[in-house]
Parts: sequence; structure tokens; C-alpha cells
Amino acid sequence: MPRYLKMAMIPPVTRISPRLIRILGCNPGPMTLQGTNTYLIGTGQRRILLDTGEPSVPEFIGNVKQTLRDERIVINDIIVSHWHHDHIGGVEDVLNVLENKDSCKVWKYPRTDAQEPVLLNANVLKNGQKFQIDGATLEVIHTPGHTTDHIILLLHEENSIFSGDCILGEGTSVFEDLHDYMNSLKIIQKLKPTVIYPGHGNIIQEIAQKAS
Ligand SMILES: [Zn+2]
Repeated sequence: MPRYLKMAMIPPVTRISPRLIRILGCNPGPMTLQGTNTYLIGTGQRRILLDTGEPSVPEFIGNVKQTLRDERIVINDIIVSHWHHDHIGGVEDVLNVLENKDSCKVWKYPRTDAQEPVLLNANVLKNGQKFQIDGATLEVIHTPGHTTDHIILLLHEENSIFSGDCILGEGTSVFEDLHDYMNSLKIIQKLKPTVIYPGHGNIIQEIAQKAS
């Protein structure tokens, strides 16, 4: 039996806290575990979506649409953690179900090793950039290693982080550059996050063990 089937089950949509809803990308596989975790962040009408799963996954897009309808919210910004397919692949599909498609901004940190993938409405993220919405102040932290463009988000209200593929909920992350990757882990360690919301796998609370 593949390893990813034995892990604690992640439901398709989870209200993790008043400021956080996790929507599973519904793209399970050996590299994505149970699928990509995407996160809707904020408490107000306008939310930020982190990552978008893979392209053409109707179940995921249906869950995004339903969640926006149930919560009466809109996605103001889409932030992608890095260029890998299972994180940026669904950007266009998500935009297509938004009533505010034209005003929703897509954000990504630039790659330094290769050409950028084509993204609709793409805006350039900067290290240290902050996003302020109701209930959430998010800070962009460049954490290369897994890829050159990888970023994590620090949620100031909780001192928690969204780790993308830098730290996974299960298994071990792969990386392009070990030196950069180790430096990025040190940056995360210094933040002393209370909780890690990973790009794949379950939420991590025992952080001292995982990051050291
Ligand atoms: Zn990745």
C-alpha cells in the first residue's frame, strides 16, 4: 500500500480556525501525499488563497466555489508558494469561478534559475512584503532550496507559518539546493512558529523536533 494512504485522513474542506479554511487539492499521489493543501486566510469578506493545486480538478474547484458561497466571501489575492505544478496549476481554474476574476491579484516570487510559468495577472512578491486583511497579517519570507522561488507566509497573529513544500506534514521534502534549503530551515527555526501549516500533509504542532 502506498505510504500516503496510511496517513491521517485530510477532509476535502476543513475549518481549522475562525481565520483559516483548508481546501484539499484533491490530487493525491506519491509526491503530493493526500494532495496539495490550499488555505483560505482571513476573517472578513475578502480572503487570501495560498496555493491552488493542480489544473483541471473539478472536485477541488467545486469545493472552492462552494466554500466561497457558504462563507459569503471573495478571494482578493492568490499567493502561490512556488512554481511547481501542484501549487500554481489551478490558478486559472480558480480565477474562472470568481465573480471578481478581474480584480483578484495573483502573486509569486520570481525564479532565478529558469523562466517563469505563465500566470494570469501575475504580480511579483518581495521578501518581507506584507498582506493585511481582516484577521490576518501575512509576511512573505523567501525560503529557497526546494525551488529558487519558494516562499513561506508568516501569520503574525498566531506566529504560525504556511510552509509550502519547505516543510511537509509527512515524509521529507525534496530540494534543488541543499545549502539554500538548510538556510531556509534555519530561518524558519528562528521564527519559532507555534504551528506549521504545510503544503502537503497534516498540520504540524511538534515543531522543535521537526525543524531541528
Ligand atoms: Zn514543490
